[in-house]
Parts: sequence; structure tokens; C-alpha cells
Amino acid sequence: MEPARRIFRIRGVVQGVGFRPFVYRTALRLGLRGAVWNDPEGVVVDAEGDAASLDVLAYEIKSSPPSRASIESMRTLDAVPAGAATFSIIPSATLGASHARVSADLPTCAAYLAEFLNPKDRRFRYPFINCTDCGPRYSIVEDVPYDRSQTTMRSFRMCPACASEYADPLSRRFHAQPNACPACGPRLWLHGSDREPIAATIEALREGKIVALKGIGGFHLACDARSESAVRKLRERKHRSGKPFAVMFPDLPSLERELVPESLHPTAPIALLKKKAGSTLASGIAPGLDEVGAFLPYTPLHHLVVRQPLVMTSGNRSDEPIAIRNDEALERLGDIADLFILHDRDIHMRMDDSVMRGGKVLRRARGFVPESINLGFDSPPILAVGADLKNTLCLTAGGAAILSQHIGDLESWEAQQFFAEARRNLERLFRVTPQYVAHDLHPGYHSTRMARATGLPAIAVQHHHAHIASCLAENGRRDRVIGVAWDGTGYGADGTIWGGEFLIADLAGFERKGRLRPVPLPGGDSAVRAPWRMALSHLLAAELPATRVVHTERASVEAMIRSGFGGVPTSSAGRLFDAVASLAGVCHFATYEGQAAMELEAICEGDAPPYPMPVIDGDLLELDPRPLLRALLDDLDRGVPAPLITSRFHAALALGIGELCERLRSSTQLSVVALSGGCFQNRRLSRSTKEALVQRGFEVLVHFRVPAGDGGIALGQAAMAAWRLRDVSGHSR
Ligand code: ZN
Ligand code: FE
Repeated sequence: MEPARRIFRIRGVVQGVGFRPFVYRTALRLGLRGAVWNDPEGVVVDAEGDAASLDVLAYEIKSSPPSRASIESMRTLDAVPAGAATFSIIPSATLGASHARVSADLPTCAAYLAEFLNPKDRRFRYPFINCTDCGPRYSIVEDVPYDRSQTTMRSFRMCPACASEYADPLSRRFHAQPNACPACGPRLWLHGSDREPIAATIEALREGKIVALKGIGGFHLACDARSESAVRKLRERKHRSGKPFAVMFPDLPSLERELVPESLHPTAPIALLKKKAGSTLASGIAPGLDEVGAFLPYTPLHHLVVRQPLVMTSGNRSDEPIAIRNDEALERLGDIADLFILHDRDIHMRMDDSVMRGGKVLRRARGFVPESINLGFDSPPILAVGADLKNTLCLTAGGAAILSQHIGDLESWEAQQFFAEARRNLERLFRVTPQYVAHDLHPGYHSTRMARATGLPAIAVQHHHAHIASCLAENGRRDRVIGVAWDGTGYGADGTIWGGEFLIADLAGFERKGRLRPVPLPGGDSAVRAPWRMALSHLLAAELPATRVVHTERASVEAMIRSGFGGVPTSSAGRLFDAVASLAGVCHFATYEGQAAMELEAICEGDAPPYPMPVIDGDLLELDPRPLLRALLDDLDRGVPAPLITSRFHAALALGIGELCERLRSSTQLSVVALSGGCFQNRRLSRSTKEALVQRGFEVLVHFRVPAGDGGIALGQAAMAAWRLRDVSGHSR
């Protein structure tokens, strides 16, 4: 048979996931010769042998790559056989990389247990055990290509046993960059003591103490999740009054005893799951909510110390970024934790746990970043700075958009530093130097100021347009759609506060065609923390008795609203949730963003007929909440239980959205609706809205991998700027 030679160029998440050993093993089995190596764009396979075997190789690469790999594209070139004698793996050369994708951090794989639990294995109970299928990645990589010398593992010199695994293409640890063992790798210790750290941790947790544990992307603060007093102590010391804590369970059966399980995501994010009746978890974990953020051990250290349900919350003080360095943790968490479990494998990139709900990402970080989103068109390098709350940033490189991990609220200096770190890191790993910057229209945002400070040509993007563009980009769409952007607050194109918007939008632009009927936002930002103020505002707008609201400042706020200087008008849907939460007696004061809406959803029960929510005609269509509020007050007066009232409220919103979209379809002929904005992280609202729209024959686009809330704004900004600038890049289609 004629020898043939083919070169395959594979792009995607193909480095740091065992791709080269997989190709090596397959090539050996097929009797092929040649080589495989990492290049700046991914992996290159240069193979020769008989043509049929080359076909099989190509087929196996495409059909059964390593489980953590994700192939974006594979190009094949025919070449003249060079007479290679063997098949080999060529170590990475240091090249000017561009699109080489570093993998996200990976949770412990199933294969490690056999060694970890085996007293005869040299890695028996070793907290830093890993292989090509698991372990830290993005959080320890300082530069590409992904090689040990470019990670924080460089300071650990492998012992002969580890070095031979690392060099053996048939080993599970072939080129596993964080490879280590107790003889040569990182070690764990209890700060300020010679005690064995695992036993000390388990004992301290049993005694109700708070332990700071160094993990993959930063420190966690842990305490007994069944102890009310331990949880209260953690809240007091952390200055965190009501915001829910996540709980790590030792294993799936123990999780199932407390919560209703759903299919678990392979990267072990925090999943919001419904509490079962008779749950033994401390009530202080998620006050007022019916769900608990739950996850399973994802590092060997977790497997050692998590013996009972433990609160595991980011190691930070209130809204600051998560601590990563030992000295930093000792300083910043010094008066929170009783005990510090430290190790000497440095964390390069800060990374919180990701949060999912019903299969959708609410907070995107560990396990997802730096996976990119394919824009489907080429763009010049752009930096999108996102929104101020739940901030993330986004870079474009070629046709890819790379969304950073959750950074948080940009109010604090520490968060702004974190933003700079995340930006620098992505720019280095993806070899991008932004030439343009995209930011929110809000003139007062920190992110807007930071965007201007870059000195780059700037593109301002309206907040709700960015929400819809984010949904389009995630779904790989560029068409014009009816965009329903519902959230708490966003700066409108007319200088008022938007948040219940119906836009006709594509990546190029938008027209505002509908909204929730606006009411004054009494006292501006202070209204956000005080749902009772929104209740008052909505009551007055509906000409209903203000005396419904009981608060010492009611009279003065009422006078302020009646004077016409009651604050800027807002069409925010989030603020309508606030008003209803207060009227239903669920929540009058919010201690964290979105609390009132979350508590309202939590008590919701059953399916009930919707309250009336008509559409008012006009150039700008309006959904009118006044009849809804009148009917809701009638129900309250008749003693209808709150779970039913909130159920009717949710149903009204879904129906109202459906009706308004129907009007827009008849005037525009558009039949695709994109749902975005923080309100659609409400499961009941997004489910019933989607149902209402599908029933009317709409195609509905929603978020999955990218948060519907402000954590997704940067992607929308990037996609819009990229679309506008696509011809400027000089290498476009
Ligand atoms: Zn070793
Ligand atoms: Fe928003």
C-alpha cells in the first residue's frame, strides 16, 4: 500500500487535557509514524502510514477525544511522506502563542481514588494528587504554552518516580504539569502549629470553629453546616448578614438526605437545590430561601476534611475578592478564621466557585473560565469592561470572546485590582493587546471610568442592549430579535433608570419598543435596599392607599413622591418585585442584591390564575402593573395566602411579556425572542415566560453558559463592539 502523510491542526481546548498522549497511544495502536506537539493554536499531529489507518486516526480524534477536551476545529493537510521511523511527542517550544486554550481547573477524577485510598500507594492520602484528567489548570498557569515551567509548580523539582511518569506517554501523568507526590511536591500544614493538619481541621470543625482552607482558586472559610452557632459566628465575623452560604457535602448520598438532587455538572460548581422537609442544615445558611447552594468535594483536600456537611464560602471579608496568598489570607481573614490550613502551591489566578441553577450558570468562574465563546466572525482585539455589579470582563481574540471569571462589585479598590489582574492574565495567555474598549453607557460607573483610563477608542453600549447582545452571542445568533431585558437597574439611553425593557435589537443596534410602566424611584439608590419604598411608589402610581405601607419615614417619602421630585422614573422589573415582596409581607429591607425577588420566588407555590397585566398602546408599548396591584391587594384583604399571591404575580408577568411580544411581532414580523437580565435567573419567571412564548409560536433564546444577570454584560458589549468593528480589523471576511 502507498504510504500517505497527513497533518492535522486541531484547535479548541486541547492543551492540558491529555490530548497528546491520547494521539500518541492511538497512533501507536494503528502502527502510524510521525509526531504530535502543542503549537500556539492548539495541537498539531503529523502522521504517516497507510491511508486507511490515517482515516481511523482522524475519526478517533474527532469522535473520542479525552473527556476534558473540546475540539473547535480540525484542519487536514496532505503532505509528502518524510519516512519517519517512530511516533513521538515533541515537547512544547516556546513560541509566540495566540489562541492556545488553557483548560479550566478540573475536579478530582474517578481514577485517583484507587491510589488515594490505597495505603500501599505512594500517593496515599496525598492532598495534591492529580493526573491529566484532573487538578488545577487556569489558576496556576502564568503563561502559554501550558508547560510546568510556566506554572506555579515550577519550583517543585520532580523526584525520579514522578519524572518517569511525566515522561512516559502511556502514563496517566504524562505531561501532567502539576504532577507531584509526597516526596517532591507541595505540602500542607496548620499555621502556627506542628499538628497533623487534616486531623486538626476535622477536630476544629466538630468543635464549631471556623477554618480557612487554601483551595484551587483561593481560600474557603469552612464551618459545620449543622451548627446554628457556628454559622452565626461566621456571619458576624464576615459582616455578612443574610446572603446565603454554600454547603459542601461529603458525597452524593449525604447531599440527597438534605436536598433534592438534580443532574450534577462535571466541573462541580455550586448548584442551587431545593431543601427537603426535615433538613438538618442550620437555618442561618440561607435565611428566607427554599434552596441551598450545594457542591461536592472537588480537590483531594476536600475529600480528606469534608466528613459532614460544611459551609464553604469564599475566603473574603464581605464583598472583597477571594484571598489567594498565604500572607494575604492570614492578614485579611485573621479575625474571621480560628485555624489556617496552608500549602505551598501558589495560586496564580483568583477564582471563585461557579454557581448554577437549573442547568444555567449564574456565576461563571472555576471550571468554566477561560473557555471561550465563538463569535462566528472575526474581530479586532477589544476589551469589554462589563457592568459595575457582578462584574466580569471580556476580551476578543480573532473570532473568540473570552469572558473572565466573576470579579464582583467594582466599588472596592481591591475589586478594581482584581479586575486589573484578570485583564492582564487573559491578555498574556491569549496574546491579545486590545485596540478598542467597550463599556456601559452609565457615566458614573467605575467600569466606565476604567475604560476611559485605557485611552483606547471607546464604544459605549446601553446596558439592556448589552444583555440582549450577550444572549445572541451565547446562542451564536446575529439576527434581529425581540429582546426582553428585565433586571434591577441599568442606565437608560434617556438618562432614566431602565429595567423592564422590550427592545427590537441585533448586534448593530436597538430600538426601545416597550417597557414596564415607569414609577418614581424614591431616594435613588437607597430604594434598592428598601423594598418598602418601591411598594409606596407603586401604590401611589396605582392610586391605592399609601397607608398599606407601615414605616416611620412613610409620610416624608410619600410627600417627596407627590411633590414630583420623588426620584428618577424607573421601568425596572426588579423594583416591581421589591414592591410586591414588601406588600406581601415577605421582605421590607434587602441586605443583598436581589434578596426581595429571591425570597418572593422561594415562597411561591402551585399554579394559579394570573393577575391582570394589560398592554397600553402607544408608540412605546407599556405593560401596566396597576390592575395587577389592585387585584393583589384585594387578595391580601381576603386573606389569600402569600404563596398563592406570589404565584399569581409570576403568572401575570409571563402572560404580560407574552402579550407585549405578540404586539411587537405583528408590527415587526419578528418571531424570535431573547430573554436576558437578572430577572430571568428567577426559575419560575423564566420557565413560565418561555412557556407563554412557545405557546404563541415564538422561538425563544435563553442563557445557559453565560449568566443572564450582569455577569454576562461584558460578553454583550464585546460582541456588539466586535460586530461594529469587524471590517476595521483588516483580516475580516
Ligand atoms: Zn514525586
Ligand atoms: Fe442588568
